Amino acid sequence: MSTTDLPTPVLRGAAPAHAPAGTGHLRGTRSFPAEARDALQDTQLRRNLGKATGVIRAKRQAVVDEVPDWEELRLAGSAIKADVMARLPELLEQLEANVVARGGTVHWARDAEEANATVLRLVREAGADEVVKVKSMATQETGLNEALEAGGVAALETDLAELIVQLGHDRPSHILVPAIHRNRAEIREIFLREMPDVDPDLTDEPRRLAMAARAHLRRKFLSAKVAVSGANFAVADSGTLSVVESEGNGRMCLTLPETLITVMGVEKVVPTWFDLEVFLQLLPRSSTGERMNPYTSTWTGVTPGDGPQAFHLVLMDNGRSGVLADPDGRAALHCIRCSACLNVCPVYERAGGHAYGSVYPGPIGAVLSPLLTGISGEDDPNASLPYASSLCGACFDACPVRIDIPNLLVQQRAASVESHRRPTGQDVAMRAARVAMTSPGRFTAAEKAMSLGRVLGGRSGRITALPWPASRWTASRDVPAPPKETAREWFARTRPGQER
Ligand code: SF4
Repeated sequence: MSTTDLPTPVLRGAAPAHAPAGTGHLRGTRSFPAEARDALQDTQLRRNLGKATGVIRAKRQAVVDEVPDWEELRLAGSAIKADVMARLPELLEQLEANVVARGGTVHWARDAEEANATVLRLVREAGADEVVKVKSMATQETGLNEALEAGGVAALETDLAELIVQLGHDRPSHILVPAIHRNRAEIREIFLREMPDVDPDLTDEPRRLAMAARAHLRRKFLSAKVAVSGANFAVADSGTLSVVESEGNGRMCLTLPETLITVMGVEKVVPTWFDLEVFLQLLPRSSTGERMNPYTSTWTGVTPGDGPQAFHLVLMDNGRSGVLADPDGRAALHCIRCSACLNVCPVYERAGGHAYGSVYPGPIGAVLSPLLTGISGEDDPNASLPYASSLCGACFDACPVRIDIPNLLVQQRAASVESHRRPTGQDVAMRAARVAMTSPGRFTAAEKAMSLGRVLGGRSGRITALPWPASRWTASRDVPAPPKETAREWFARTRPGQER
């Protein structure tokens, strides 16, 4: 097994192999089946999700179909990411050197706790007690808002959907559209309840809702001394950071405050601007279904008299070096967080994002979350995530960087089983199946025993209830009654003399 050692400061010390438990939002409190069961009862949620994912899916497909060399672009994106993973230590050190050379400061964070502590210290050093935030998965991962609040700093989300989630005292349920589980009427209610000075005649017309949010945010943009952002990409050979967004609120944060702090997962680095070009084509079409994203902000260090005069880059590991050391699992780090895999996933469409527990929901979350945290045993909520899939492969087809998510799901299912400290009902069933399937005689006996199950199927031919542990299967699915004839009996009857 090949491993990659990062000679970066992150890993020169004893870097944790996995994101430590207790800080941030990479793990929920209940298993996926338990959460999904509750989500499925919520008809409003299912309606909102079904409508929103359907619209985004259709938009994405239409703009992807316009591009004659889409497959070549996907291959290019995949190849660049593979190259980045193979050279991550070198690229990160190049990025660090170029950020510093252009007046920025680089901080290395082994995990979420160190990243949060660094940001809090920098905000305090800047003399601020509130920050404006650009939408960022990295800071959701670390639970930065809660950490800042505990340290006496108020964090205001400025992305409209993130603002809705924050005002609703809610959790994001989608990578790109964090409030996808809310409809317009619910958003109007949240605004009326939570926004001081909002027009009481506010309607649920999207334009009116956006105007109300803009008025709410404008005052903050002009007064905030510090902004916190994530980064979609970082160009190693120039030290340039980049954020792509649709509303322009991110750009206000990136240009107006005196101090800008960017928290970035180490995997977001790309070697050159030419590589960035590939992703700036793949990302908007895959995420919002647009040909170009409306705002692409890039900044390199600091420029006297223009924009923030202090720039800090926090390079965060939080389990990524452990994932990188896994020759198969490292492909999960190729993800550019476009969310296309969520919008095509039949499981996500019905259960929604909260059911996954982690800030990374859907197919990529079902592998990335357990890879980052590790699986601590059969009770670990993240142990159930790799099973949150039909393995239909739609996620791979949609992924702009060709991550083989179904394959990763199967590998993480194996990791989940290996983590068991005591056998589960499924383990017992699988071991029994192995005993039967490794001997022709035992297999024949098992077939005969199973054929008795025909009586349970009755006239409908479907078995709806079995005793434990098989009851865990029939609790949510029917089982077809065994056929009259086994495959081998059929073969012997239809191919006489050929049976072996
Ligand atoms: S795994 Fe692929 S499709 Fe899913 S969010 Fe990441 S880049 Fe997009």
